[in-house]
Amino acid sequence: MTARHDLLRLDDVHRGYGEGEARVVALDGVSLAVAPGELVAVMGASGAGKSTLLHVSGGLDVPDRGAVTVDGLDLGGLDRTRLAAVRRRAVGYVFQDLNLVSTLTLAENVALPLELDGLRRGPAREQAVAALTEVGVQAGADRFPDEVSGGQRQRAAIARALVGPRRLLLADEPTGALDSVTGEDVMAVLRGRVDAGAGGLLVTHDPRTAAWADRVVFLRDGRLVDSTAPTTDAAAFLGLAPAVDAEP
Ligand code: ADP
Ligand code: MG
Repeated sequence: MTARHDLLRLDDVHRGYGEGEARVVALDGVSLAVAPGELVAVMGASGAGKSTLLHVSGGLDVPDRGAVTVDGLDLGGLDRTRLAAVRRRAVGYVFQDLNLVSTLTLAENVALPLELDGLRRGPAREQAVAALTEVGVQAGADRFPDEVSGGQRQRAAIARALVGPRRLLLADEPTGALDSVTGEDVMAVLRGRVDAGAGGLLVTHDPRTAAWADRVVFLRDGRLVDSTAPTTDAAAFLGLAPAVDAEP
């Protein structure tokens, strides 16, 4: 293992669901690497396999075939306990549906992964409040998810992904419920973490969000079909601007 290994490597990853006629191939031979300091955006139509790509990258789902390596560790070689530890310590995950615990305050939600990892309540709360401050929702720290706005819930979910020493950040539409100004603020926070040495994989439909990435990969029917610089190509892919140099 080298000192500056990729934070994420997928090698020929396949994942399908169901059997026979009902079989759906969600990932069909995907290879991808994310280096420290690199933010990669994933775009593609609904059902293309974007969420499955994030799930297998974070050890939440297991590929049928192919290898997933997180921060130098081959996830296929880990038992359940060690896989859970990697998920808590190395991977920060922002889910499409947020997954905040409704009976915990925002600060308690953010502190949860740290406490699960054995940190005492006081220091865990301190780090949680610092992470909430970083995304601008410190005022909501002691409120419950249903007492704050959708945008504040989303930012709390991002704080939970950023808290602690996580080096691989996986985000499924992290700016989906945010207005454009708040979305830009959240992307600035994610970008800052990546610039500080994390690696990021970000699913988005929004070309302005994708423009924060170093490169964009496009998924179609479970295959990576293209990899480009952000902004204009992303806009062209989404039909928002004419493609300048599209291949036939
Ligand atoms: P996206 O996030 O790009 O919309 P997904 O990764 O959620 O795509 O899904 C890719 C394909 O796999 C879709 O056809 C979806 O219906 C199917 N799929 C995803 N998860 C499951 C599952 N747990 N069981 C059955 N089919 C699934
Ligand atoms: Mg999805």
